[in-house]
Amino acid sequence: MEKIIFPPDYDYVGIYLTDKCFLKCPYCITSHHGSKFIGQPDASYLSPDQWIKALNRLELPTDVPISLQGGEPFLYKGIAEIMENVRHKVDIMTALPPFLNREYFLKLKTLDWNKRPAPYPTIRVSFHKGQNDFKELVDRIAGLNDILSIGLYYLTHPALSEDEISFMKVYAKEKGVELRAKDFLGLYDGKMYGQLKYPGSVDGRRQGIEVTCRNTVMPVAPDGMVYLCHSDLYFNRRERALGNITASHFEFPSTHLPCPNFGLCSECDVKIKNNHYQQFGYTSVDIRFDENKARSDGKET
Ligand code: SF4
Ligand code: SF4
Repeated sequence: MEKIIFPPDYDYVGIYLTDKCFLKCPYCITSHHGSKFIGQPDASYLSPDQWIKALNRLELPTDVPISLQGGEPFLYKGIAEIMENVRHKVDIMTALPPFLNREYFLKLKTLDWNKRPAPYPTIRVSFHKGQNDFKELVDRIAGLNDILSIGLYYLTHPALSEDEISFMKVYAKEKGVELRAKDFLGLYDGKMYGQLKYPGSVDGRRQGIEVTCRNTVMPVAPDGMVYLCHSDLYFNRRERALGNITASHFEFPSTHLPCPNFGLCSECDVKIKNNHYQQFGYTSVDIRFDENKARSDGKET
């Protein structure tokens, strides 16, 4: 297999090991606009060996790790094998399923994948109001702090009260656990949350215009399909995939690509956020509009 060379401005490589999750957050970003990423009945998965070969061919941009995520990435049975055998540093987005403990990590052949200088914890555990227990998560993370770069991110759910947030801050500090906030994105009680770059991009319906789009994020599905954006991934638009990470040859598009799905964009792609150096003002996609190309049928192609 040939190497996969990233353009230097790419910021993030999201490896979706699995579409399975042990939580059922009603606001899960993978289900916005009616997409059905979690628990697909006909999902297929690369084997750990396929992932290791595919990930080791990536020539990543400077200081960009691979990020293992899902669903819940630790529900993918071969994740340990992948962490032990990839030549890259690894970040992980997890909700810390109950079986993950100190013994699990100490049994691994190496923890080198977790050692990189980063301005944030590289294992990012998320706290979802109404889904998992804050104190239990903090206590478990406190037991891993000395062997891992790990921290807790609470989703800024609009229903979280000031008192709850104050309590969380005090409790995490007492236990020596790094606590950060992670933006709640999407609709809640009729109000849209998140600072978005393109008005109309997440309205939940196609806007009937053709746009062209370029991303600086690489989302890769559990079956290895590489998508232009998270909307294509979460909607499983295989016909729009850029290729497969296991194909003998893969290259990134050299231009902006046409898209008829503006309006069904994922907040992940159109949000104004920090880049991997934690500098604010970055947005994953660059969308170009051509006012003369208004579509009348609103259909996906
Ligand atoms: S833990 Fe994350 S992936 Fe799982 S249901 Fe909640 S938001 Fe979705
Ligand atoms: S316009 Fe939106 S849906 Fe289309 S490719 Fe860009 S981010 Fe994805």
